[in-house]
Amino acid sequence: MRTLVTGGAGFLGSHLCERLLKDGHEVICLDNFFSGTRANVSHLIGNRNFELVRHDIVEPILLEVDRIFHLACPASPVHYQYNPVKTIKTSVMGTINMLGLAKRVHARILLSSTSEVYGDPEQHPQTESYWGHVNPIGVRSCYDEGKRVAECLMMDYHRQNNVDTKIVRIFNTYGPRMAINDGRVVSNFCVAALKGEDLPIFGDGKQTRSFAYVDDIIDALVCMMESRDGFAGPVNIGNPDEFTILQLASLAIEFAGSSSKLVFHPARSDDPVRRRPDISLAHRELNWEPHTPLHEGLKITMDHFRRELGPRGT
Ligand code: NAD
Ligand code: UDP
Repeated sequence: MRTLVTGGAGFLGSHLCERLLKDGHEVICLDNFFSGTRANVSHLIGNRNFELVRHDIVEPILLEVDRIFHLACPASPVHYQYNPVKTIKTSVMGTINMLGLAKRVHARILLSSTSEVYGDPEQHPQTESYWGHVNPIGVRSCYDEGKRVAECLMMDYHRQNNVDTKIVRIFNTYGPRMAINDGRVVSNFCVAALKGEDLPIFGDGKQTRSFAYVDDIIDALVCMMESRDGFAGPVNIGNPDEFTILQLASLAIEFAGSSSKLVFHPARSDDPVRRRPDISLAHRELNWEPHTPLHEGLKITMDHFRRELGPRGT
């Protein structure tokens, strides 16, 4: 099986490449290194089943592959808001290019969509049948609407051209290999706590997220790719255990053994207030559920950042 992973040098993509190589795939990892790095996959270079290609998916590419895990897209608000026009081009033109490739070579393609398609949800927990509550003109819309268009493209290529498509909606995921400067809440809190710096809380910290450990999500991606013919999704994948940002902050301080304090900043624009996946569809269709509780995964992630920061905590 020859498998393409777009965004393969990123946080999730690099874990996925590793897993696919273990499962015996030939892996082509394609990335423009915007938010991913060569270092994330340097340990895979030299494996004869692994190829690393620098390419921007906004441009078409010709490859012969059987499977496409389409992950390329910056995922942290800090990264996707840095160049919002590029973010939406990546989701729209990038997905068209990958679907065109899938159509040409008859490959099965999986899109890593996001819980952000639900926006600031009015339904809690979120099921796949909920259409969402997204501000189409806000600062998050380059990402949220980009992914909504990407989902639309997947379904239209499926209906119109019979492309074998699968959509997963991933909820907040954390784990080793998140970049120190990733900007998402888990990495920000772990790094600040280890350095003994204040933990930045946007808003009152009572907003919630449901955090999934990376290994659980990689299992779900693989299960979805190999799910039964005709099951295109979308399917939610995430850990339904819900925490406030304040609860996450105190766990991070405790696990780092730190005396860091909290410092409150204004809430971010359009920041969703509550988020928790209903994963009954994933359970039914994929026989999948997450196994790693936050306190376990966060300790492993803290150790990753401790190693990254080195003995002087810098
Ligand atoms: P990440 O930023 O670490 O990885 C994204 C990768 O895509 C990076 O390596 C980046 O360099 C690459 N990339 C970006 N634009 C590109 C382009 N135009 N051409 C080629 N490569 C490009 O983020 P991640 O957390 O690993 O997320 C991976 C995917 O999963 C994304 O599609 C994201 O939307 C989705 N997702 C992630 C989460 C999460 O919590 N991690 C949640 C929901 C959805
Ligand atoms: N957040 C925070 N401090 C940080 C980073 C994020 O309080 O240093 C909050 C943010 O406002 C949001 C939640 O944590 O309510 C999750 O933010 P993240 O950027 O990780 O992901 P997303 O908002 O995309 O779910």
